[in-house]
Amino acid sequence: MKRLIWSYGGGIQTIAILTLVAEGKLPTPELAIFADTGRERSSTWEYLEEVAGPLMERLGIRFEVASHDLATVDLYAHNGDLLMPAYTTDGKLPTFCSQEWKRQVCLRRLRQLGYGPKKPVVTWYGMSLDEIHRMSDSRLQWHSHHYPLILDVPLRRIECETQIERFGLPLPRKSACWMCPHMNDAEWQEVRAHPTDWAKAVALDEEIRANDEHGGVWLHKSRVPLAQAEFADKEELPLFECADSCWT
Ligand code: SF4
Repeated sequence: MKRLIWSYGGGIQTIAILTLVAEGKLPTPELAIFADTGRERSSTWEYLEEVAGPLMERLGIRFEVASHDLATVDLYAHNGDLLMPAYTTDGKLPTFCSQEWKRQVCLRRLRQLGYGPKKPVVTWYGMSLDEIHRMSDSRLQWHSHHYPLILDVPLRRIECETQIERFGLPLPRKSACWMCPHMNDAEWQEVRAHPTDWAKAVALDEEIRANDEHGGVWLHKSRVPLAQAEFADKEELPLFECADSCWT
């Protein structure tokens, strides 16, 4: 029988799942695993420490951080390509970081913990009903994917917010890296309101341009240095938990 694992993303859908477990509407997973990219927004850690962590403890869910040390690459691939979906003069780079910093890192950590062909798992992912197109099969026999917010308790993202509020928890902020180019202006404004995260994002934006040999790369869609970017006052938060096509 496959063991039940939960990929903890840290955003709205993740916390909706947690409240559904607490209400007995979903079974209790034996382990929640969170990929630490080393660049996760501070608000995600704060919510984990103050709200989600204590509830997981009360429910008996073991929480594991998959460290960024388990990634084999950081900002750049072995061939020198930038792995983040940064803006270029005429487009945007692929989101390889999500695979390298999240998916692969979690799988390596699960193997370290003894899961594998002799101890197979089914892993929950937090995509909600409005993200049905993001469902995928695993290529590994010992590791299958499951989507409780699509298959077991179908909820749209907005309904996940209602579920969290009805349960009585505060809504978490968007979960993503503090420099994620997939962020919209509302999210960039949240990062800017956190001086430590903002300073690191501004420095990284400069760093990737200093290392670039292809005409320029930028974190913000306006293709100006992040420190000079102007953020629109009103922009809807996106529908998806981990921006655009990030893995969790
Ligand atoms: S949040 Fe953004 S930068 Fe971080 S891993 Fe996902 S896509 Fe990459």
